Amino acid sequence: QPAIRIADARKLYGSGEAAVRALDGVSLDILNGEFFTLLGPSGCGKTTLLRLIAGFETPTEGRIHIAGADVSDDPPNRRPVNTVFQSYALFPHMSVRRNIAFGLEMLGRQRGEIAETVERMIALVQLSDMAERTPTQLSGGQQQRVALARALAPKPKVLLLDEPLSALDLKLRKEMQLELKRLQHETGITFVFVTHDQEEALTMSDRIGVMRGGRLLQVGSPREIYNHPADRFVADFIGETNFLSARVEAEAVVLQNGARVPLASTRTPGSMVTLAVRPEQVQLRPDGPIAATVRQVVYSGTDTHCYAALSDGTQIVARLQNPPSGEVGLQAGEAIRIGFAEDAVQMLDD
Ligand code: ADP
Ligand code: MG
Repeated sequence: QPAIRIADARKLYGSGEAAVRALDGVSLDILNGEFFTLLGPSGCGKTTLLRLIAGFETPTEGRIHIAGADVSDDPPNRRPVNTVFQSYALFPHMSVRRNIAFGLEMLGRQRGEIAETVERMIALVQLSDMAERTPTQLSGGQQQRVALARALAPKPKVLLLDEPLSALDLKLRKEMQLELKRLQHETGITFVFVTHDQEEALTMSDRIGVMRGGRLLQVGSPREIYNHPADRFVADFIGETNFLSARVEAEAVVLQNGARVPLASTRTPGSMVTLAVRPEQVQLRPDGPIAATVRQVVYSGTDTHCYAALSDGTQIVARLQNPPSGEVGLQAGEAIRIGFAEDAVQMLDD
């Protein structure tokens, strides 16, 4: 059975004309022990969904199951769930040790068990040298570790994390991403992680749910979502994508400028589609079916972005790996021919 089952959850804030539809029929199973990420732009309903799971909000319609039990009517403290917020919400006057112990005391755990758990948690998040400091004596990253230790201490079945890394600078965020993966792996606890950062989602998750406007658009592994986005929004939101309008023929598709690209399709000849192609799947090769002109070449260390225009002005970007010896050797104004890597083109319905 799944760790969490969300069955057709809907959430309206307010009522009548002014009501905000924050969730519009979300159904989702999150599996035991998985690192699951809710990904989507600001305002799409991620926090609302997390708060429904935690019990801080009740769904307008739909049910929430955790570990097989319907918890829809249970208050937060009766759910086997804990939350880490973006603002760490630590007690400022308490030491690291006391911050972690406090929640366990509130739960009425035995003193011996509390002492043992606190020391294990402090070691887990690698703060053994700082256990007597108060939060003001810690860096942002260290405070985040305390918040994690405190949330993990009661051994929740599920840990909810609402953009926990967004207050950290890039370098620290990368470190904490690895740290979170390690903690999840070592504890085996199901993590539900919220972010609007697609790269963070791709690198950390077992599976991702992409949200937009209160709906779940696609659920899948990072690879599935990146290579087979369900629609144009997902393709655009997750990484860079070229979009090209085309008409389907028997064994090819025809671009707007008339270029014929050999491509098998099950769609009816004559139907219009959008081709979605990742920049790294755009190849510059002499036998490529598409003629283009280089407009701009941007070098960025390991690779080069080549921006080119087709004869009708359509823009296309290729990401080329730089050879060990240096640069790819392209110049603005140069005529090139473009092809796509096999199986690299996603056909999206218009
Ligand atoms: P996200 O976390 O993805 O940014 P939220 O779940 O916070 O999105 O918000 C989803 C929508 O619900 C937004 O339009 C937001 O303005 C609205 N919303 C969130 N919380 C409330 C609230 N307490 N009252 C009214 N509207 C809210
Ligand atoms: Mg939010």
